[in-house]
Amino acid sequence: MPRMSALNADLHCHSILSDGTLTPEELAARAKANGVQLWALTDHDETGGQQRALAAAQQQKLPYLTGVEISVTFADETVHVVGLGFDPEDEALTQGLAGICGGRGPRAREMGEQLAAIGIAGAYEGALKYAGNPRLISRTHFARFLVETGVCRDTSEVFARYLTEGKPGFVPHRWARLSEAVRWITGAGGLAVIAHPARYKFTQIEEYALMTEFKALGGQGLEVVTGSHHPHEVRKYAEAAAEFGLAASRGSDFHSPQENHIDLGALPPLPAGLTPVWELLQERVR
Ligand code: AMP
Ligand code: MN
Ligand code: MN
Ligand code: MN
Repeated sequence: MPRMSALNADLHCHSILSDGTLTPEELAARAKANGVQLWALTDHDETGGQQRALAAAQQQKLPYLTGVEISVTFADETVHVVGLGFDPEDEALTQGLAGICGGRGPRAREMGEQLAAIGIAGAYEGALKYAGNPRLISRTHFARFLVETGVCRDTSEVFARYLTEGKPGFVPHRWARLSEAVRWITGAGGLAVIAHPARYKFTQIEEYALMTEFKALGGQGLEVVTGSHHPHEVRKYAEAAAEFGLAASRGSDFHSPQENHIDLGALPPLPAGLTPVWELLQERVR
């Protein structure tokens, strides 16, 4: 076993149960082939893939932590909170996630209507075709449809032109409260982690408020190393983890072999001097 902090842990990725393109089984095999030593599948607002992921990980002899990525609204911005090592059958967690997913259908239909109003017809139906799980229709599925139909060259272009705040296909949405997401995760015996902190458009004060409030609510982790962090962002959030007394997580946020720049397990190591989240989760590894 390597040193705890040097473990090739990848604790953030998506399957067809949310907006990834691979099955839990394909992800487990890919993680193993890429040298991952501890894995978690973290579908958006959905734990329906956890049994499959665990079974596939066990078949690959790959240590596994249960995972989820919960959509939260904080200071009018969407923040993602990853939960790790919880009981996936927990009633309050399951109910809470069902409540979030319930809002996705109407939001998607409205996105379809807004896009139709600017001349892009059939986007809702088109996106639905890409959603492996109809409960979990997301902007990513719209993005794939707009690439397939030649409206844009790639998914980043779709987000930049159509699906982000102020753009014609963007529909504002209220997700869970930060307090709810942390309570559902910790109530189910898991550990809550702020995902990809550099991706939020917060002022310094808002970011400070997020970390302070998260910590006060019982949140314990910060994703310091993730697929979308530049080296200076890794350094910045390593310092933040130390400052706020948060453990550090590491996850690629892998969605698809076609769309991701960072593959499962292909991440830089955690910076020295941090407590890895998996050190706090040893009892929960399956
Ligand atoms: P939703 O939960 O429906 O709002 O969709 C959010 C998902 O869209 C994220 O989890 C990412 O997978 C994807 N996403 C968000 N922003 C971008 C972007 N700029 N480029 C590509 N994918 C993005
Ligand atoms: Mn996603
Ligand atoms: Mn995310
Ligand atoms: Mn993610």
